Amino acid sequence: MEKAIFIAILAIIIFNWLLETLLSYLNLRNSRKPIPEELKDIYTAEKRSKQFQYQLTNIRFGMLVRGFSLLLSFFMICFGFSWLNNNLLSVTINPLWHTLLFFVIYMTFSQLFDLPWSAYKVFHIEEKFGFNTTTLLTFIKDNVISFLLSLILQSVVISVIVFCWQWQPDWLWLIAWAVISIIMIFLNLFYPKLIVPLFNKQTPLPDGELRDAIENFARKVDFKVENIYVMDSSKRSTKANAYFTGWGSRKRIVLYDTLIKQLSTDEIVAVLSHEIGHEKHHHTLKGLCSGLLRMLLLFVMLGIILRYDIFAVAIGCVPTFVAKFIVFMMLYEPVGMLLSIVGNIISRRHEREADAFAKANGMGKSIVSSLKKMSVNSLSNPLPHPLTVFLTYSHPTLAERIRHLQ
Ligand SMILES: [Zn+2]
Repeated sequence: MEKAIFIAILAIIIFNWLLETLLSYLNLRNSRKPIPEELKDIYTAEKRSKQFQYQLTNIRFGMLVRGFSLLLSFFMICFGFSWLNNNLLSVTINPLWHTLLFFVIYMTFSQLFDLPWSAYKVFHIEEKFGFNTTTLLTFIKDNVISFLLSLILQSVVISVIVFCWQWQPDWLWLIAWAVISIIMIFLNLFYPKLIVPLFNKQTPLPDGELRDAIENFARKVDFKVENIYVMDSSKRSTKANAYFTGWGSRKRIVLYDTLIKQLSTDEIVAVLSHEIGHEKHHHTLKGLCSGLLRMLLLFVMLGIILRYDIFAVAIGCVPTFVAKFIVFMMLYEPVGMLLSIVGNIISRRHEREADAFAKANGMGKSIVSSLKKMSVNSLSNPLPHPLTVFLTYSHPTLAERIRHLQ
């Protein structure tokens, strides 16, 4: 049985690697097809060739990173996890401290592994194609803050799970799920006030033409907007975006300053009309609920795996809590992938509904031109392979969105 579990873990990792490699290959092959009629005006021959170079560079880089990660995963499964788990037992046998120590060491190690790759991506690839505006200082600060933040959050989550496991192992799935759901909802509520300021400055949008236009549109569709903010995202990248966060009275619209620079007033209002469409259809709430439901399934599976020592033994570990937890994370991968495919199907439907809302409110034309501008400015792939779209895209392709909007 141990052998079967060990082989299943390796098979999952190899399958993921093969699938990602296959998708890269299919996307590259698809890029040779003629550009869809709807996009001919923006993807000129020159833009098209630049976009292809960008895509090719990213695919090559992705293959290299994935190759190294695959080797590292093999190493960790065959030697690393068991070495760390078994040796830490001589430091402490308290399950909570053992687990936390394990995660702190493992996360630090992963962060150090990722750092050179992400530095290369930002300062070489993004720089070469004119997207990067990050300074070295911002890069270091971002990495330190996000590392500490995820260390704290994950330690809290892990402690809750260990505590529930020791207290009521049979009800772990329900109790841990309920506690962590509350933490997630809290984070969701206070995200703009607590987390975003660690990385970006948000300033209220000043009075003027843009603010009037947004407020006029909001009034027309009977939508309350009180907080419209501009975020200084230009300190990292030239890529543009806009989003909604928070709930109820904490709801706020956040516009990237790059969006304001790149789009006309009409186009910005069109982007927001799409976001208001999401709110009108309660997509954020639906998304949160489906996230919580998915997490329930995760905890049910965790509760089962934690009961059997054999899962830890399969990777050569003394059966501790953390060893079983690590094996759970690897075995959960295919389940998580299936759930994310379903999630993407739902998300693409939501995107179409939000676009339909914008169109019904007279924003069809402006949203098409804003999508075209944003897409060509960020050199996004105009011809992704249908399998990639089905498996990984949270939005319909640009060509499909334009067809629906016109
Ligand atoms: Zn959307």
